[in-house]
Amino acid sequence: MVCCRCGSTNVFVTPVAEQRPRGCLLTLFYIFLLCIPVIGWIALFMLIRGRRSRIVTYAVCQNCGKRRKV
Ligand SMILES: [Zn+2]
Repeated sequence: MVCCRCGSTNVFVTPVAEQRPRGCLLTLFYIFLLCIPVIGWIALFMLIRGRRSRIVTYAVCQNCGKRRKV
């Protein structure tokens, strides 16, 4: 693999756990669910459990430090 900035082949590939971005609309939705007893709480619990961080592979150049997704 070749670095797109400096052209160096000294590129280190590393997996990085990345959290999905959380919008303020989703936070409002969580609060809304909290206001609904039992059904809302179950839905909230399922939503939180389903929100997992995904693994993104990054190629990090050891020469210039340029980081990009693979
Ligand atoms: Zn580079």
